[in-house]
Amino acid sequence: MDSPRRRQTARSILSETTGFIAEAGFTHSLTPARNCTYGCTYCYVPTLGVYGGLKPEDWKRWGQFTTFKANAADLLRKELRPHQRIYCSPLVDPYQPAEAEEQQVPRILDALIESPPRVFVLQTRGPLILRDLEPLRALSVRTTLRVSFSITTDREDVRRLYEPHCPTFKERLDAVRALRRAGIETYATLAPLLPCDPEALAGAAIEASGRDLIGDPLHVRTVKRYGATTRDAAWGLAGERSEPIYGLA
Ligand code: SF4
Repeated sequence: MDSPRRRQTARSILSETTGFIAEAGFTHSLTPARNCTYGCTYCYVPTLGVYGGLKPEDWKRWGQFTTFKANAADLLRKELRPHQRIYCSPLVDPYQPAEAEEQQVPRILDALIESPPRVFVLQTRGPLILRDLEPLRALSVRTTLRVSFSITTDREDVRRLYEPHCPTFKERLDAVRALRRAGIETYATLAPLLPCDPEALAGAAIEASGRDLIGDPLHVRTVKRYGATTRDAAWGLAGERSEPIYGLA
């Protein structure tokens, strides 16, 4: 069995944005690794293939290992500029399980604290982010820092089915509350929205964050002809179920 944690040297760490991330106002994205050990069944990233900077092994074995960009912080020190609005990350969760051992994000945060961009947004579903409250606080006084915390459903049966390696609903709400208590600007992002009790989900997320919600449905090919789409594994699960509540198909 391969180790789920690998390392490679990258040539660059910041990418100029295009598409909906650029439209959202970000100039650059930061992707600290390839592949993501949360391995969500619906993840759109492996459907991007080489356009997502992936190798065939990544999309064939999505979620089974992570290749960290070992020189990410050093590259960042060279590439950071004050005008940049950076989104981290469209292609992996920076606090995915393999990060617990790798401890790469604190090195990235140190580089950002030294040379802060105009905006830095962290998108995650990992309570591991609470490990880094101290550098996050330090960065928040140097730039506009925002955490966007993914919450997909209030139903544990649905979460176990579509994202069995991800934290529970309660663990995510607790993480959002802890970030809020620490003074970190944190939004609950209902993305992708899985089958749920929408009122209960929205109410709990608003209570935890104290802020407006951000939401996004699954990327579905029937309404989106090009680009990223929902991974086949989720379609397979939806097809095995007859209840309309699982109606991804
Ligand atoms: S956490 Fe995000 S990047 Fe990782 S597998 Fe799930 S959807 Fe994909």
